[in-house]
Amino acid sequence: ERTQDADAAIRQTDSDAALARLSAVRKGYLTDSFIGHLVPRSQLQPPRPPLINVGTFVRSYSIDHLVEEWINISKQEHKPCQIVSLGAGSDTRFWRIATGPYKDHSRVYAELDFPEVTVKKAMSIRKSSQLGAVLGPPETVSLAQGGMALHSPKYHLLPCDLRKPPSEVLPSLLGEILSPSSPTLLLFECVLVYMSPEASSNLIQWFVDYFDSNSVSSNPGVLGVIVYEMFGLQDSFGQVMMNNLRSRNVSLIGAFPYPTIQTLPERFMRHSFTVSKALTLREIREKFIPKSELMRISTLEMLDEVEELNLVLDHYAITWGVKLDPVSNSSSAAW
Ligand code: SAM
Repeated sequence: ERTQDADAAIRQTDSDAALARLSAVRKGYLTDSFIGHLVPRSQLQPPRPPLINVGTFVRSYSIDHLVEEWINISKQEHKPCQIVSLGAGSDTRFWRIATGPYKDHSRVYAELDFPEVTVKKAMSIRKSSQLGAVLGPPETVSLAQGGMALHSPKYHLLPCDLRKPPSEVLPSLLGEILSPSSPTLLLFECVLVYMSPEASSNLIQWFVDYFDSNSVSSNPGVLGVIVYEMFGLQDSFGQVMMNNLRSRNVSLIGAFPYPTIQTLPERFMRHSFTVSKALTLREIREKFIPKSELMRISTLEMLDEVEELNLVLDHYAITWGVKLDPVSNSSSAAW
């Protein structure tokens, strides 16, 4: 029963993420006309404090940027890409891509999460004509597995527990959806921290093997990965963050092996990725977000706590990496 409570607490983190996104959208930090359809009216809350809105903005801006670059590289190589979002929760990225400039360049988009989360998302999609319309004509959209799964020509919503042995779960879920010869991007946006390092490692290795030339008869697709997560929880501010979540019954077990920013790319190098890099959200805000955007968001709300903002952003990072087949010469190595 304790495990069930702990899992419920982990699923609850999705409502937090969705509410934070909605808050940032309402305050003008982000544009997203879809998130409102995924947050039930009964769950609406007052906007988040400015510090949280800025954090959400930096997180979203940087992941969007990396995803667009990834799609762009695949586009230049004339290979429509596939995106798999693990622990996707109420994320709206599929809808934003499918209605944006890159809509014709992704082949398939799959989202995985606990069945309790996917069943709610599938219901929201069925209820919202704005979300549904993006998936295609109604006759091409179908529910499966008692409403826990949803399939459409490009978008698939799939229930699973990502901690289970991947070889028992993923082939039946993804086997018919993912082509092992298309460039494929894995998104882990704030999810690996809730899983044991062993479970994460097995999960990543399953994808590495799926796109490995030894197991694919044709040319395997390039595998890319983007991870957003907390790290460095060993220091005093990290302890505060961790205790805060622990009081809500959420453990950050997956962050323990990563005391510093340098340790984050090592995870992917261990899985024989070709390149992997990581930046803290603080570095991204200070060095990579265009000045014009920083100017624009500084006019939205008063942010007094810049020191505290930096402390928080110092404990969140984006890690990204590429695994190339030895014989391919894809430009994604420069990503
Ligand atoms: N990626 C989304 C985003 O960034 O907006 C949601 C992030 S939310 C903090 C974490 C999500 O991971 C939740 O939806 C949760 O249910 C999912 N998750 C965590 N552990 C999982 C597991 N073992 N199996 C499936 N989903 C999991």
